[in-house]
Order: sequence, then C-alpha cells, then structure tokens
Amino acid sequence: MIFNEQHELIRKLARDFAKNELTSDVLDKIEETDIFPAELLKKMGKAGFFGIKIPQELGGSGSDHRGYAIVMEEIARESAVASLYVSSPNSLGGGPLLLSGTAEQLEKYLKPVVTGEKILAFALTEPGAGSDAGGMTTTAVEDGDCYVLNGRKTFITMAPFSDYAVVYAKTDMSRGTKGITAFIIDMKMDGVSCGKPEHKMGLIGCATSDIILENVRVSKADMLGELNQGFTNAMKTLDVGRIGVAAQSIGVAQAALDASIQYAKDRKQFGRRIADFQGISFMIADMATKLQAAKHLVYDAAYKKDTNQNATTAASMAKYFASEICNEICAKAVQIHGGYGYMKDYRVERLYRDCRVFTIYEGTSQVQQIVIAGQLLKK
Ligand SMILES: Cc1cc2nc3c(=O)[nH]c(=O)nc-3n(C[C@H](O)[C@H](O)[C@H](O)COP(=O)(O)OP(=O)(O)OC[C@H]3O[C@@H](n4cnc5c(N)ncnc54)[C@H](O)[C@@H]3O)c2cc1C
Repeated sequence: MIFNEQHELIRKLARDFAKNELTSDVLDKIEETDIFPAELLKKMGKAGFFGIKIPQELGGSGSDHRGYAIVMEEIARESAVASLYVSSPNSLGGGPLLLSGTAEQLEKYLKPVVTGEKILAFALTEPGAGSDAGGMTTTAVEDGDCYVLNGRKTFITMAPFSDYAVVYAKTDMSRGTKGITAFIIDMKMDGVSCGKPEHKMGLIGCATSDIILENVRVSKADMLGELNQGFTNAMKTLDVGRIGVAAQSIGVAQAALDASIQYAKDRKQFGRRIADFQGISFMIADMATKLQAAKHLVYDAAYKKDTNQNATTAASMAKYFASEICNEICAKAVQIHGGYGYMKDYRVERLYRDCRVFTIYEGTSQVQQIVIAGQLLKK
C-alpha cells in the first residue's frame, strides 16, 4: 500500500480545511482583489501545511513526500492559488535550504518560513535563461568576506512580498552549470529591487515579478551549499517541486471532473440530461480514466522519494503526464459546460486558466520529456 493511516488522516485534515475555508466567497474575493488574505495564510500555517514535509526539529509537521502531495492535491482541488502557498515553504522555498543549509541557516531562514512568519522565493529563471537555466548570466564575484551579485531573475513567484530569496548565480563563467552557486539574500538588502507584478492569466492572488540585483553584497555566511554546487541544488529541489506541481494538477483535474459530472447530470437539452448523450458520457469516462492514471504516477513518484529510490524520472513523468491531462480535462470541462463554462460565474472557467501554467513552470513538458528520455537513453 502506498498510503498508511497517517496519510489518510492528513488527507482528511486537508480536505476538511479546504472545504471549510476555501469557500467560493473567499475565492471570488481573491480573484477580484488579487490579494490572498493574511488571515487565511495564518490558518494554513496553524494547520501545519507550510511545514508538512519538513522535519519536526525544524518546526515542521514531519510528514513525507506522500503527505505533501496529498495536501497539495486536496488544497488545489478547491484553490490552485492556495496550493502555491503550500508548495513554496515545502518545496522551492524550503527545499534548497533543506538540501544544503547549515544549522545556522536552517535556524535563521527555514524555521520562520515553516511557521509562515516569513516568505522565501526561489530565483533561478532569467529573461534569457528559462528551460536552459544553466545559461544564466547573473554573476557573483568574490570581494573580501562577501560576494557581489549582479543580474536579473524573472517570473519569480511571491517575489514582491518575499522576505528572502534563494538566488542562483555564476561564480565561474567558464564552467557552465558547474560554475553556479546558490546564495540566500534578504529582499531588503541594498541593491535588491522587484519589477512590477506581472498580469497573469491565472493563479490570481499570488504575485510574480522580476528580482533585480545591482551590486548586492552577500556575506559568505549566506552562501548556500558549496561553491559551484548550486545547479545540483536547484535540480534536486526541482525533483520535489515537480511532484508538487503534479499533485496540484491532479487536484485541479479532480475539481474539473467533479464539476463536469454534476453539470452533465443537471443540464437538459433535447429533453434529456446531457449526461445521457454518448458524446458527453464518453468524454467523462476519458477524463476519469486519465486522471486515475495520473494519480498513480504522482503517488508513485512521492513513494519513490520517500523510500530513497531515484525519483528523477518518476517525478518528471508525473509532472509531464498530470499537467498535460489536467489541461485536457479542464478544456473538456469547459466544453461540457457549453457557453456557461466560458463565464466567470462557473468554476471551470477559473480551473481552465489556473492550470495553463502547470505544463510550463518548474520545467515545461518538453523539458520533462528531455529529462525522461535522457534517463532512459543514458550511455
Ligand atoms: C506563473 C509563473 C511562475 C514562475 N515562478 C518561478 C519561480 O518562482 N522561480 C523561477 O526560477 N522561475 C519561475 N518561473 C519560470 C518558469 O520556470 C519558466 O517560465 C519555465 O522554466 C520556462 O522558461 P521560459 O519561460 O523562458 O521558456 P523557454 O525556455 O524560452 O521555452 C519556450 C518554449 O520552447 C520550448 N523549449 C525550450 N527548450 C527546448 C528544447 N531543448 N527542446 C524542446 N523544446 C524546448 C519550451 O518547452 C517552451 O515550449 C515561473 C513562470 C511562471 C509563468
């Protein structure tokens, strides 16, 4: 069995929380204002979601990757944007620290992120270096007891309201991905600024912007991990991140399937429920089957991670398949709702917009195919 009793309890806790707190009124207000309520973040922190897979000695709940995937799935089933706030401390934010942080760094930066007091962003992408993250041009040059950072990071989730960021920069321009180092920066430091928040298609309520670094002096004590080992840190972090996006995808896809089944039973045309038309019922059968397959891939990747197996291929397969079928399922859900599905009054409209980025961020579908093929065809 992939799940134990503890996992089932976590699912119940996350499901009940999502149903009670992420109500349509709350979600409509977030969509209207583009602001995620601080009160709701506090409640999510108190429920232990921000540290669900962080060890207890670091202030977390001490569960595992399966526990994390379950919380992501259940929260995303009600609200994709709310699930971003769960993923950040557990995955892209906390992940680099968990992998390479010293005891002092874990105490200073990770613990407050786990409780929700502070927010930490993950800054890898640049305007000219997305899929090819190793092609980054941000530099970090040694100067006494500091490194001086210059460059620009782009599309950084939560950057405008983050307290800290893990920034990847070139410390040796001649060594490609083997010349990249990770640093922790305080967003209030001299020389750090943010671009204007992007106008996004979906995931409204979680700002994304550039981070601009101009002669930012970062103490050597805030170098994360060893010199020139930053790219490995980023790639290992993304292994976990991809399980998170895959779990987000199955949560949103489940919401789209549930809404479609309900609508198909309620809506009547030609004197019958539209569910009675084979064209609609076969679409629903197809959606449910693909979603079930995606769930198995997601849970398998999390299980492999929990049992210390190599999970790189499994995480990429899960992210690739789950995000693609989530987009397919949400598109079909809009189709089943007809013209109503195109209107903001119906839930599937938001699901369709929110999921569009799942095949793009944390490695596009094409990048996942490169990772999977690369593992299979290794010399
Ligand atoms: C809402 C949002 C939030 C984000 N949050 C963060 C964040 O917090 N931190 C962060 O560091 N980044 C973040 N990103 C950046 C994200 O990870 C990148 O957008 C993504 O990796 C793709 O890079 P790109 O946009 O430059 O596209 P490109 O790399 O330019 O890709 C363009 C197209 O070319 C394809 N392509 C590229 N190379 C190949 C190849 N070798 N073979 C086949 N096809 C290829 C891609 O699949 C894609 O279809 C975020 C992005 C978005 C949209």
